[in-house]
Amino acid sequence: MKSLWNDAEAASFSGPLGLRVYTSRLLGRDKSLVLHGGGNTSVKIEENNLFDEKEEVLYVKGSGWDLETIEPAGFAPVKLDYVRRLASLTSLSDPQMVNELATHTLRAGAPAPSVETILHAILPHKYVDHTHADAVLSVSNSPDGDKRIRDIYGDKVVVIPYIMAGFDLAAYCAREFPKQKTKNTVGMMLLSHGVFSFAADAKESYELMIELVSMAEKYLAAKKAWSVGLPPAAAAAFKREEAAKLRNEVSRAAGFPMLCRCNDSSRFLSFARHPEVARMSQSGPATPDHVIRTKPRPMLGRDVAGFGAAYRDYFDKNMQKTKEPKAMLDPAPRMALDPQLGLAAFGRTAKDVGIVEDLYEHTVDVILRAEALGGWKALADKHTFDIEYWDLEQAKLKKAGTPPPFAGEIAVVTGAASGIGKACAEAFLRRGAAVVGLDLSPSIEGLWKRADFLGLKCNLANPAEIAESIDKAVKHFGGVDMLVLNAGIFPASQAVQDIGADMWTKAMTVNVQANLLVMQACHPLLKLAPRGGRIVVIGSKNVPAPGPGAGAYSASKAAMNQLARVTALEWSKDGIRINSIHPNAVYDTALWTDEVLASRAKAYSLTVEQYKKNNLLKTEVTSKDVAELAAEMCGPLFAKTTASQVPVDGGNERVV
Ligand SMILES: [Zn+2]
Repeated sequence: MKSLWNDAEAASFSGPLGLRVYTSRLLGRDKSLVLHGGGNTSVKIEENNLFDEKEEVLYVKGSGWDLETIEPAGFAPVKLDYVRRLASLTSLSDPQMVNELATHTLRAGAPAPSVETILHAILPHKYVDHTHADAVLSVSNSPDGDKRIRDIYGDKVVVIPYIMAGFDLAAYCAREFPKQKTKNTVGMMLLSHGVFSFAADAKESYELMIELVSMAEKYLAAKKAWSVGLPPAAAAAFKREEAAKLRNEVSRAAGFPMLCRCNDSSRFLSFARHPEVARMSQSGPATPDHVIRTKPRPMLGRDVAGFGAAYRDYFDKNMQKTKEPKAMLDPAPRMALDPQLGLAAFGRTAKDVGIVEDLYEHTVDVILRAEALGGWKALADKHTFDIEYWDLEQAKLKKAGTPPPFAGEIAVVTGAASGIGKACAEAFLRRGAAVVGLDLSPSIEGLWKRADFLGLKCNLANPAEIAESIDKAVKHFGGVDMLVLNAGIFPASQAVQDIGADMWTKAMTVNVQANLLVMQACHPLLKLAPRGGRIVVIGSKNVPAPGPGAGAYSASKAAMNQLARVTALEWSKDGIRINSIHPNAVYDTALWTDEVLASRAKAYSLTVEQYKKNNLLKTEVTSKDVAELAAEMCGPLFAKTTASQVPVDGGNERVV
């Protein structure tokens, strides 16, 4: 492991807290040190208060901040002398600890100090760095792990047996640290948990962390336990219905819809197909705090009911050993190892799914290296349970608040690169859905860089491209719950006697047949939607009130309208509802340039402003208006409605 310290970069951070921010980010950059909110850091700074009295302040990572992106505001300043004294108490309950830390924080609005704050306070050094380094975990979770740690580090580190984070661990360290400490001590190992380094300056403390972790890496390399390859595994053909079925079952077990990502990389497949996978994967997480994201162990294969029964058993057994009664969390897995799918990761948001995937990617490394040392040994279930059901850990998840209405659901929007389609994608994203945008334009792929959006270039006239796109969508998010059929063309104005066969066929292909093909491809997936499938058709005012010159367009939209009505009849038994929106005069799309608008307005002897609002309500209809209705049609408001046709046109004399 290499130090990422860079003098030029460091120079842009000033003061002791600035450098604390810098080296915290350096730790965060290396995923084999800390992942997703794991690890914490601190710095002790002497400051003057308003009375010009000197005061020692411990700036410690605030809960909810990630080391990789932490800012000065992410550190909570606490009164060092007071917090350090807490470690001398004989006992301190969690609520008391939370209260004491909160009431001795010196900045209003600061984040809650880390649950490991007291531990940072009792270490005498100015800078303290703490990670859950993969290499150290591999060594400490192998046979005779504690002995190996002592062999590697000698008196460079103080060694602490596994104790749950919080007051008990801090109090134990406060007693044990002075006893074990020598003049060579530069770190502390918490067995089956992680590693601390400390020093008088930021760079030194950070580089000691790199040095300590490198020593574990070298040890693993010397024992031929560092580069642990798995035999290459070829991916099986992806069967989207199987993945969607699995997601449906997991969502039902959870009691709410969840996304699912299937990662069939050679490494995950090979691990999932490993003859020893049951033993290796079922003993527990790499480090205890993964459990709130991953549950204690992955599901093997697709036996969701079996996983749930085992989880209940785990809960009941460990519940008996705890002091306070706890309510069981949902018994659904957060990850599955499957010989065909590889790793399937589950979560309520795309971000959560990514976290699960990352955590297990590193867990596989940790397990395989410990295996190469003689056998992976995870912590006993009791300890994992204590962390999983620790209020202070669960509080981290609860910070996210009430999930938005479409959390855990997937919407596919066609023609999503611009206009009404883009507005629809935004409307569904705002409501918490993961969105797959399909469009003929390659710009769809870079439309947004965010975990909950997948943009795919797709020609909807081509069934093979549709199948490929839907496969990708399901592999990425787990299914299709909502479908917005928006893509369409508006051919140039032509009198009926002039409509060419080509134009007629094109209008029918894009405005009708493509929608039929997309619906057919999605039908089995919509059937498996945890809350029932929903389709929204972006129709047209031309369905009830066609205009002269728009023969091919109006006929194609009317055909689609009939298809939607028949679909409502046939698919209601599958729990799928389909509703149509008939917009008119939506001018904020690429179709309507200023020039076109001006010439159309002139043709009616109106100003552009009058032309835009040429409806009963004298109002302008925007893409967003249409998109908001499309999203609402997929929500609870329309839960009992199918086959409806709602105009969004400001009121049209010919439609009423
Ligand atoms: Zn930790």
